[in-house]
Amino acid sequence: MKNYAEPLENLIRQLSGLPGIGGKSAQRLAFHILSMDKERVDALAGSIKEAKEKMKYCPCCGNLTDKDICDICADETRDKKVICVVESPRDVYAMERIREYHGTYHVLHGAISPVQGIGPEDINIKSLLERLREGEAEEVILATNPNIEGEATAVYIARLIKPAGIKATRIAHGIPVGGDLEYADEVTLLKAMEGRRDL
Ligand SMILES: [Zn+2]
Repeated sequence: MKNYAEPLENLIRQLSGLPGIGGKSAQRLAFHILSMDKERVDALAGSIKEAKEKMKYCPCCGNLTDKDICDICADETRDKKVICVVESPRDVYAMERIREYHGTYHVLHGAISPVQGIGPEDINIKSLLERLREGEAEEVILATNPNIEGEATAVYIARLIKPAGIKATRIAHGIPVGGDLEYADEVTLLKAMEGRRDL
């Protein structure tokens, strides 16, 4: 048998396009899916479709939500004076796990990277500035990842917002340099938040 039949080949190709799934893993997953009950396969395919259809970005903070405004922005008890800026919705979930942060968020959906041709206009900075103009924020915590792109993005935003009299702070480097915020454990994240410094 030289090649997989076309439907199987298609499935493997779709799976191998996902992050962290190499060719071998894609094959293993594809064979596993084909061994599953039809009901389970329908449920899996349905949940992918449903999540994609129903989840959208909060127009205020850019976080993922299935509502018009996300739960955090809509929560009256959250401190609107503090905005924690992160690169991805996954980082919001990571920060929420520590349960010590009661401010709001702003999700950039990326970081500035001249090497990859990603400029400030390509990420969600404009809506942050609008929020700062209209809102009551007094401090912006720059919790972008501790790598070159994250640092560059933090410095860029700090320079933009400081003239407006808004305090810009950077989370401490408890998080390993080059690491991702979302993989940091709760204690490390908490320490990074507590040890934040002015930018
Ligand atoms: Zn929101």
